[in-house]
Amino acid sequence: MAQPPFQAGQPIVSLRDVGKTFPNGVAALRDVTFSVREHEFVSLLGPSGCGKSTALRIIAGLLEPSAGEVIWRDGARAENLPMPRGEIGFVFQEPTLMPWASVAGNVYLPMKLAGIGRAEAAPRIRDALARVGLEAFEQAYPRELSGGMKMRVSIARALVTQPKLLLMDEPFAALDEITRFKLNNDLLTVWAAMRQTAIFVTHSVFESVYLSGRIIVMTQRPGRVHSEIAVDAPYPRTEAFRTSSEYAALCRKVSEALVDAMAQDDSANESKREPAA
Ligand code: ADP
Repeated sequence: MAQPPFQAGQPIVSLRDVGKTFPNGVAALRDVTFSVREHEFVSLLGPSGCGKSTALRIIAGLLEPSAGEVIWRDGARAENLPMPRGEIGFVFQEPTLMPWASVAGNVYLPMKLAGIGRAEAAPRIRDALARVGLEAFEQAYPRELSGGMKMRVSIARALVTQPKLLLMDEPFAALDEITRFKLNNDLLTVWAAMRQTAIFVTHSVFESVYLSGRIIVMTQRPGRVHSEIAVDAPYPRTEAFRTSSEYAALCRKVSEALVDAMAQDDSANESKREPAA
């Protein structure tokens, strides 16, 4: 039986019957229910526009659901208080770095917003940069960095507050394959070392299988949970896993689920259509 590097714990966050309809009438999510346990690495997988980012933003507290609820449990809190912002790290699709600030200045931002002085933050900034292999680039500026390095800075910025929950919205979609593979490996190393809970949005079957302990497959918009697939392969995962027959078989299984999810036509729901421009 495959073992993760540590046992997943209690549910840390659950979505229950969550729906989201935007003010322009687009129904992005409907009746979405799933839980994520402490220390898990879970991917939300689905076609573009199925509502994955919307679900992640709802978890982050950046969007309010129009229906259903988000239930927080971290073991320490009995009541359903949302996780404090400082305990959530968010990595966006684009690195979104401030061009006028150094790498260290960019990573400092969440600590600055939390009112922590630069001197006090300095060791944490160095630690976060070391975790993504950029310790030598503290003083560099974003324009001097490759796309992969910019994304590493963005990950370091999300890690600097030592969040319990790391939310990632297709962070590697714009990168070339070799860089993406490398960042996949480094991300798993960081996740295993920091014992976070990770929720990763992707439309890549291959990426979701490589990274995740569990994959939540979503249907087309309005996104619903089609199925949950356990990726029962041990961590740490390496390039040997990527080329294994086990990986290929898992990718096939997840691909089939995704094809089935995409075939589910929810034509009864009129609001699925894009409104006229
Ligand atoms: P995914 O992450 O799966 O690609 P999103 O969650 O980004 O999907 O988007 C789901 C749907 O909701 C898309 O049709 C998108 O155009 C729409 N959408 C996302 N954000 C907004 C918004 N703020 N206002 C209106 N429609 C939105």
